Amino acid sequence: MKDALIDPFAREITYLRVSVTDRCDFRCVYCMVEDMKFLPKKDLLSLEELDRMCSAFIELGVRKLRITGGEPLVRRNIMSFFNRMTRHLDSGALDELTLTTNGSQLYRFAEDLYSAGVRRINVSLDTLDEQKFARVTRWGRLKQVLRGIDAAQSAGLRIKINAVALKGFNEEELFTITEWCHARDMDLTWIEVMPMGDMGTEDRIGQYWALSELRDQLAQRYTLTHLLERTGGPARYLRLEETGQKIGFITPLTHNFCESCNRVRLTCTGELYMCLGQEDMADLRAPLRNTADSPKALEEAIRKAIRLKPKGHDFDYSRQVISGQMTRHMSHTGG
Ligand code: SAM
Ligand code: SF4
Repeated sequence: MKDALIDPFAREITYLRVSVTDRCDFRCVYCMVEDMKFLPKKDLLSLEELDRMCSAFIELGVRKLRITGGEPLVRRNIMSFFNRMTRHLDSGALDELTLTTNGSQLYRFAEDLYSAGVRRINVSLDTLDEQKFARVTRWGRLKQVLRGIDAAQSAGLRIKINAVALKGFNEEELFTITEWCHARDMDLTWIEVMPMGDMGTEDRIGQYWALSELRDQLAQRYTLTHLLERTGGPARYLRLEETGQKIGFITPLTHNFCESCNRVRLTCTGELYMCLGQEDMADLRAPLRNTADSPKALEEAIRKAIRLKPKGHDFDYSRQVISGQMTRHMSHTGG
């Protein structure tokens, strides 16, 4: 057994999120500009390189792998990558292989994902209204996503819906979305919008709907119990006593969750971001490419990067001025 990856604040790194592409078939307004410029394909890690990289992390103690993007299911041949990762589930080295998707391609891949060992997935969906869906995703079609969700449930995949809370947009759907998830036996997590990418300060603040407000609205209809469970991430949970439903809240801006952070993020070009909210990163592509036959050099580069993991992020909306804003888009690091 190799030594675990422990950062300078004694946090063990057991969770790797991997963005396998920066491309997407949607253009969600809080995530991308419409004429988004994408990376040249040659800069991307090949699927074989992604396999070597993920396997190196797994050997160093990573037990959960989340595949994200951009939209992971639009990467060509992506199922062959999932199939390669199955061996780590089979060997017991990996506890969970999962993905975050916009759902547009699920109708094609749901069964293959299940066969590869995926059991739970996150599907991002902010509204159940067709026109609003088209507005927020710019290019997406709600029907296609709902068809994908049906296919995923039929294949046996457990679904968690991730909805970004947007002021004046999906506020009025709070109860509809909650009831819809309950009726379909899906979990639900609300995400506070984060200052990622350069998309205009005023818009961003206008879009911000504090989850504390959302919680207060839920409390008007349900009895809420705060749950203590933690996942090492920014999510907090509460239970609606009337239905038994568990609702997650990801509030990176109103709470500091960094003390228990167990994760790092790899971009599709092999940059490792030790914190979603900081610019610091380590290039792992060079050690991966230069030392194809010397895994030791890659291991050293990973260990060195983890030693640089910062204590936390600096997002702060509290004075209606965005400090700690990132110029990088979420599709680059993977949400
Ligand atoms: N395309 C996939 C999807 O949409 O699920 C995976 C990548 S996407 C970048 C991952 C998550 O990040 C999605 O749930 C999306 O809603 C969220 N996201 C994107 N931009 C965000 C922002 N500025 N603030 C909060 N969440 C954001
Ligand atoms: Fe694409 Fe996901 Fe970003 Fe929407 S949130 S544009 S689906 S990467």
